[in-house]
Amino acid sequence: MSKPNWKLEKVATTTLALAGNPNSGKTTLFNAITGSRQHVGNYPGITVERKEGTINIKNARVKLIDLPGTYSLSAYSEEELVARNYLIDEKPDVVIDIIDATMLERHLYLTVQFLELGIPVILALNMMDDVKKQGLRIDVSQLSNLLKCPIVETIARTGKGKQELIEVALKHAQEQGNSWKPLKISYGSDIDLALDDMIEIILENEFMTERYPARWIALKFIENDREIISIGKQTSNVADQLLTIVEETKHHCLRTLNIPPEAIIADYRYGFINSILKQNIMIQEKSRHERIALTTKLDKLLVHRYLGPMIMIAVLYSMFQITFTFGEIPMGWLESFFGWISATVTTIVPEGLLQSLLVSGIIDGVGGVMGFVPLIAIMFLMISFLEDSGYMARVAYMLDRILRIFGLHGYSAMPFIISGGIAGGCAVPGVMATRTLKSPKEKLATLLTAPFMPCGAKLPVFLLLIAAFFSEYKAQMMFSITLLAWIMALLVAKLVRSTIIKGESTPFIMELPPYRLPTARGIFIHTWERTWQYIKKAGTVILAVSILLWAAMTFPGLPEQEINQFEDARQVLHSTISDSTELEQAIIKIDNRQGQSALRYSIAGKIGTSLEPLSQLAGFDWRTNIALVGGFAAKEVIVSTFGTAYSLGDVDPEAAETLSSRIAADKSWNKFTALAMIVFVLLYAPCVVTVVATAKESSWRWAIFALVFNTLLGFGIAVAIYQVGTKLFM
Ligand code: GDP
Ligand code: MG
Repeated sequence: MSKPNWKLEKVATTTLALAGNPNSGKTTLFNAITGSRQHVGNYPGITVERKEGTINIKNARVKLIDLPGTYSLSAYSEEELVARNYLIDEKPDVVIDIIDATMLERHLYLTVQFLELGIPVILALNMMDDVKKQGLRIDVSQLSNLLKCPIVETIARTGKGKQELIEVALKHAQEQGNSWKPLKISYGSDIDLALDDMIEIILENEFMTERYPARWIALKFIENDREIISIGKQTSNVADQLLTIVEETKHHCLRTLNIPPEAIIADYRYGFINSILKQNIMIQEKSRHERIALTTKLDKLLVHRYLGPMIMIAVLYSMFQITFTFGEIPMGWLESFFGWISATVTTIVPEGLLQSLLVSGIIDGVGGVMGFVPLIAIMFLMISFLEDSGYMARVAYMLDRILRIFGLHGYSAMPFIISGGIAGGCAVPGVMATRTLKSPKEKLATLLTAPFMPCGAKLPVFLLLIAAFFSEYKAQMMFSITLLAWIMALLVAKLVRSTIIKGESTPFIMELPPYRLPTARGIFIHTWERTWQYIKKAGTVILAVSILLWAAMTFPGLPEQEINQFEDARQVLHSTISDSTELEQAIIKIDNRQGQSALRYSIAGKIGTSLEPLSQLAGFDWRTNIALVGGFAAKEVIVSTFGTAYSLGDVDPEAAETLSSRIAADKSWNKFTALAMIVFVLLYAPCVVTVVATAKESSWRWAIFALVFNTLLGFGIAVAIYQVGTKLFM
């Protein structure tokens, strides 16, 4: 009975929030609905992604929010808190709860919690194509009657049902207005009684009722929800009255049933769901669930007690191999490309400061950053595949028990391995891979320790020193270095988790999703998003730092007088040596000596020299110091700076032997200096790119902490090795 509305009215905006378990198809549906009209940001103050989009339908404006995926509305993870607080504080008009219809029981667990909160909800029964493939049919109208909320069937991948979904959501928003009608589930007599008592106290005192429904507050107290309880404690001492009841109930439950109240509550929620599902909601048209059956079969093998870990090691190892084998090819292209630009600039721009700035400062710096891009892209490609297929969840599941001892999580394994846990990785993609970790504390502990792994850039340093001092024990040394890296990473993780980032470990509530063949499009988008982010964010900072380092190793140039001395020496050679090859050799020697003097004279050289009194404790002289300072830009720089400092000019890998024999012959070096240096290089400050990546994943404070802490730790151990070694054995 709508009358024409003649008044000019501002178009009202309806806000719809997309919520659901991870992997239910939220993002796919969000993209299908909003198309390109979306923007991505973070929730204020935290790095949980926030996606928003606006669409206009008929004469309504609809704002759509993609909430983080959650299994529950408890307070276990940041995602859960973000989703819950968004719903409570922003009060969207309707929540669209996306459900993987092939796993109704599990996914309805979250739905029930929305209903208990009372917010208007409609269900999107997604993955209806898979349901059909399994020979299942779902009685949607019956389910909708029982849950008392509208339901729309969708296939997010093709966009089927999205139109209807929005229309139903808008209609529901109009009908419901702002009224929240919490669902009341019975939790058995003990808990129900306690709830009633608590609700009475809550209502009497108007305890937090302006924000939450009373029964919900009571439930959260019994569920031991850390956020609600701590807000409650700040609000008034009613919290203490409630906690007394909670404590009594807990004792009672433990005494009579030997189950804590949280578990009873979860049981009853599932009971509620099952009572609904029992009423012929799922109708089997074919005889078997194929995907579930396949998953069960695959899991017999893939998470088998003994075979599982072996297969896992093989998968992780091949992933690692593939990343670095295939990464090498495009990395080679990029290297040649930047080499070509370097060469071109060298011919066009006259020799001098400008050329040096362009070539050694800018092009090398940018080239260094871009060089990582293929690795990152390939690695994320494979991680996306393992994630989307469901295998990553199994890896985490298998490793969780061991890593948990050290305050880490099953998902910490991947960053360690990528960073060089099997020797030869790279901490930059490793640090970025910590994104799969949901708990901020476990993520931070992983972020801080992954850079201990022997990455590909540290390897040449180890190889050089092993060749110089331990050439009989090559394999044993490499193995020990890798082992040491793991031990240090786990011990430091344990240390930080029991001191500065103390906190309980998150329970491993991750369920094992059924295996699914990922879509090429999904994987491609994931990979591109993450890679682009790296290029954008790392690019700017790295460029600035590499120009700074260039300046430090260039300025101030040698004084005129000394340059002239070298020039004179060359003149003398020209007039005394007639044989052209001999002359060339002699000239190169002078060039190198000049290079060495200039380096010593530069700011970096001065820093190296001034650090000597301290670094001598670990046996490092000024040349080692410059190499180590340069190694902060990129660990590769260590060997090439050694080359300059030991007057070898450019060092190519083939010539490394000569460099190692020079170092072996140098009086300032012995076995213990080498050991101290190996350990220091393994542990000290992560390279600039890693530091930037760490800052982006956590904060600058933690990135700087890693820088300082790792350097102190590395130095402490290096000094101990050198001092004890030289005192006792020499
Ligand atoms: P989110 O974690 O909830 O954001 O889920 P995504 O949107 O990333 O989707 C998880 C996976 O399910 C992806 O591999 C999607 O391609 C796939 N997917 C999403 N919707 C459907 C659907 O309707 N049918 C099928 N078969 N797969 C879907
Ligand atoms: Mg998503």
